[in-house]
Amino acid sequence: MFRSAAARVCKPTGSSARQYALRQKIATRQFSRSSVNASDVRPTSLDTFTEEEQMLRESVRRFAEDVVAPKVREMDESEMMDKSVIKGLFEQGLMGIETSADYGGSESSFTSAIIAIEELARVDPSVSVLCDVHNTLVATIVRKYGNKEQKEKWLPLLAESMLGSFCLSEPASGSDAFALQTRAVKDGNEWVINGTKMWITNSYEADFFLIFANIDPSKGYKGITCFIATKDMGIKIAKKEQKLGIRASSTCSLAFDDLRVPAENVIGGEGKGYKIAIEILNEGRIGIAGQMLGLAQGAFEKAVPYTFQRTQFGKPVGTFQGMQFQQAEAAIEIEAARLLTYNAARRKEEGLDFVREAAMAKYYASQVAQKVSGAAIEWCGGIGFTRETGIEKYWRDSKIGAIYEGTSNIQLQTIAKMIQKQYS
Ligand SMILES: Cc1cc2nc3c(=O)[nH]c(=O)nc-3n(C[C@H](O)[C@H](O)[C@H](O)COP(=O)(O)OP(=O)(O)OC[C@H]3O[C@@H](n4cnc5c(N)ncnc54)[C@H](O)[C@@H]3O)c2cc1C
Repeated sequence: MFRSAAARVCKPTGSSARQYALRQKIATRQFSRSSVNASDVRPTSLDTFTEEEQMLRESVRRFAEDVVAPKVREMDESEMMDKSVIKGLFEQGLMGIETSADYGGSESSFTSAIIAIEELARVDPSVSVLCDVHNTLVATIVRKYGNKEQKEKWLPLLAESMLGSFCLSEPASGSDAFALQTRAVKDGNEWVINGTKMWITNSYEADFFLIFANIDPSKGYKGITCFIATKDMGIKIAKKEQKLGIRASSTCSLAFDDLRVPAENVIGGEGKGYKIAIEILNEGRIGIAGQMLGLAQGAFEKAVPYTFQRTQFGKPVGTFQGMQFQQAEAAIEIEAARLLTYNAARRKEEGLDFVREAAMAKYYASQVAQKVSGAAIEWCGGIGFTRETGIEKYWRDSKIGAIYEGTSNIQLQTIAKMIQKQYS
């Protein structure tokens, strides 16, 4: 749907055409500071989108409401992603959002990926993180660091049918990710990988795995290398976690027991894994900010209408000032999270520094998601506490925002280091 919708975009003519062309350049990441004079670009609000981005938002919203929403409760209760949802994401062109059309992707902007993640999270944060990890971590690594053969082989599969996982964390290395213990040893034309990964999103359903392993521990983190592997090579699911939230999103421990990977499956070069992981997680954090933003918006939209239907003391409870002020504050906080998120996304697209902005967006959006979804339960009273309304699910799902892709403390540490560098 998105692919065909994007192809139908009507481009403006006349006076707005030049501005449109510039924004398209930005949106499709063709912008470079030398190709466009900054004075040509009229500053716009942070929620100005290209027509393609707007159409994407509408089509993802329709997909989320028509296809995902009816399955959300069942998927949460059964702790299982419905296969038809994954198939639908591929069919919609949402699994290769930034991948070029030559490789079967939708060839759209980074902000488009963030919009898709946000819109999916508004309905189900589990479906959102599946799409997020696949796009912003897995496909992006192959796009950015893969050689020609790797891109030709894997990008079409990743855009059309093959779900991916990003395997960095281990039982003893979380925040300190580069202390990982998984080892890879060369044996002829193959690498032999041994070790255990933990907390791997999508891994239950995935067929494609990016595995970080150390090929030379004497070099410390400079031995870390990223390998492409497929499930049929012998990746074993050791344990599927039972979680508080995002329960339909699979999170598993993986065991690699003499896993043999062809030598050509090293991606980005030997010893370059730490650089890949750092760079990719920096931008991936904007995806989590988008997920938490969509979650907060979804909880707000679900709860507020009820407060104008529910009558106590002869009046709708939403008309009491105590309630109105809480809702107004929540709306401000969602808006602030939205602006931080879109700003980080646009900066990344424009080739500007974005690490600080991404950390701020992820930190703040995950706080707002927790706060708003928690308040949404209270606004609905007892009914908000039941599983029937789905409001409590947003709150359960919100907790993960402060944990994965760098905990809140790690985001604060990143921001604090930059403050120290600037002022000390
Ligand atoms: C549902 C889920 C999905 C995930 N998906 C993936 C995935 O797909 N791929 C993947 O590789 N990983 C994944 N992860 C792992 C995730 O990135 C880690 O859980 C996260 O980085 C935190 O690591 P940890 O759990 O080991 O916590 P720890 O690092 O042990 O942290 C425990 C506490 O100590 C604090 N802390 C640690 N170091 C510092 C410090 N220097 N200063 C201050 N405080 C500190 C942390 O903030 C936290 O509060 C996932 C995790 C979960 C729960």
